[in-house]
Amino acid sequence: MEVVAGIDLGGTAINYTLISREEKFLIEGLCEHPALSKQGPEICLQQIEDGLKIAADLAQIPLTDIVAIGLDTPGPASAAGQLSAKGSTNFVHADWAGFDIREGLARKLGKPVSYLNDGNAGALWGHFTIFGANSKETSVSIVIGTGLGGGVIIDGNVVKGRKGFGGELGHVLIPYQSIPGIEGMKPQCNCGRLGDLESVCSLTAIEKTFLPYFLPKYPGHELANVDRSKAAKMVRGMADRGDKMCREIFRVQAHGIGLFLDEMVNTFDPDALIIGGGALEASEAFQKWFIDQVRVGMPTQREEQADIPIYVMPNGDTAGARGAAIEALKLARTSGLA
Ligand SMILES: [Zn+2]
Repeated sequence: MEVVAGIDLGGTAINYTLISREEKFLIEGLCEHPALSKQGPEICLQQIEDGLKIAADLAQIPLTDIVAIGLDTPGPASAAGQLSAKGSTNFVHADWAGFDIREGLARKLGKPVSYLNDGNAGALWGHFTIFGANSKETSVSIVIGTGLGGGVIIDGNVVKGRKGFGGELGHVLIPYQSIPGIEGMKPQCNCGRLGDLESVCSLTAIEKTFLPYFLPKYPGHELANVDRSKAAKMVRGMADRGDKMCREIFRVQAHGIGLFLDEMVNTFDPDALIIGGGALEASEAFQKWFIDQVRVGMPTQREEQADIPIYVMPNGDTAGARGAAIEALKLARTSGLA
């Protein structure tokens, strides 16, 4: 049996998944270990190798059945998997600077390795759940978490870009001033931009911009006396239960997404728009309301484009590993291994 592995190397955890050439996932749920990336490449690559063996045992297959590996990590990294020479939040050890993690892993395992950044891997997973691995369709995915990740898939292939920054959708500017109800708001992103998608649609945006803006308008609100970062994490649950201010925060975020997706519709004319991440880990009724609000926030579409489907991305916590596995499956197919 030919199998490919997906490995999602995050800041705190490392996740594995295995997928057969028939596109069947061989591990249900998560095969997760604490990540050792802080200890540098040597220890980290050894951990990946050890973990792969555990995953193979779990799926009851010999290690030799694994013909290709898909790796994804947080960026910044080049499209081919060379980590930034300046280092990054998740790869602080000095030996990581400029390290080619894709090549390093390929040499360690003696198997071909494909590379994606975590946002693009998540986007590929979302795309796969709708169109499968052999698709020729185009989709745009956004994943709303602490920040905002995502990716663009054109004709079935991830847009990685010249320097690996393809699909950095969080830092695309949106005309947020046109959203009703936020006069005078100044959404500032960590990247320095004012009013990009992440500055409006992320957990960080709720903490830094929305709570300070909205709490004074709702005197006596129970979140006023809660620590800001803790309060930000409570907003989604409270919005789901119908709290007025929290709903208003999510309405504004949904309208921001609507403005952004309108830009994507006009740029790519995609087959699907996909939204995932922690913001939508809520009741089905809330998801439906949120997607409806996204549509309300979109400027009027051309008649031919008005019915473009908007999907909710499934399996948030395994999306990276699964997307990385799909990329490895494509690599295995093009190189005749599966
Ligand atoms: Zn930004």
